[in-house]
Amino acid sequence: EYKDIATPSRTKEILKQYGFALKKSLGQNFLTEPNILRNIVAAAELSEATNVIEVGPGIGALTEHLARSAKQVLAFEIDGRLIEVLADTLSPYDNVTIVNEDVLKADLVTVAKETFQEDLPLKVVANLPYYITTPIMMHLLKSELPINEMIVMMQKEVADRISAKPSTKAYGSLSIAVQYYMEASVAFIVPKTAFVPQPNVDSAIIKLTKRATPAVEVTNEVNFFKLTKGAFLQRRKTLWNNLLANYGKEEATKEWLTKALALAEIDPKRRGETLSLQEFADLSNALESLKQ
Ligand code: SAM
Repeated sequence: EYKDIATPSRTKEILKQYGFALKKSLGQNFLTEPNILRNIVAAAELSEATNVIEVGPGIGALTEHLARSAKQVLAFEIDGRLIEVLADTLSPYDNVTIVNEDVLKADLVTVAKETFQEDLPLKVVANLPYYITTPIMMHLLKSELPINEMIVMMQKEVADRISAKPSTKAYGSLSIAVQYYMEASVAFIVPKTAFVPQPNVDSAIIKLTKRATPAVEVTNEVNFFKLTKGAFLQRRKTLWNNLLANYGKEEATKEWLTKALALAEIDPKRRGETLSLQEFADLSNALESLKQ
């Protein structure tokens, strides 16, 4: 057995050995609580029959736990300085592949195909860099990767938005964009004291499970996401006012919107945040069907 990377003393030792200065701009807050890592891996329910993609391995704190539990681990790390560190800290594991690339620019499907030897269920497990949590989530969701589950750590506030239900403050276009593809729930909260250096806010582990089919049936996905984004642009305004701001105020447009709202049985005086995914889908489909 090897000493865990994620203890405060070993992390300090590694950072010192490499003279490594943490970069705030890359969201480098490293986990130094072995218990939390064990809980993350437990929540991910890994086995020899799962492959894992990790975003941002850092010095390998989470990576080594993944390597011990999964078949193969593929990790994307943007910071070139960490590559030699990882080669050292992860040397006991032969099932880890580190790719020195910005995950947002990586061709995930090709790299995954080149890396994974077996076609096994795929999970994403990561302690995400907070400055780009949402872009990374959207990049992964929109990629063609066959991801079954995502167990990811992020700021608690973003986790709340992703898992929010209608008519709550946190509910918005991000909730809809994620819940359209995945079932979302917060697994547990992680205090900021579990990191070096400590971030300003607490974190949460969110668990997302891919739905067999999207949560609602829509005839035009692009326009559905446009509609949901537009409905929340001015949260305090009514749905009607947000629709006019997004689609225009011409008479013909007003007539189209009025008919679609009636068809979908949605009161234009409601606020966007009160509409369920199903209601947004109904409205989107009505708008599509009534297009001239
Ligand atoms: N997994 C480690 C842990 O839990 O201690 C480190 C997590 S740290 C919050 C985020 C990591 O993501 C850092 O190592 C950072 O360099 C890396 N990172 C930041 N932006 C990235 C990007 N666009 N693509 C890949 N990795 C990135």
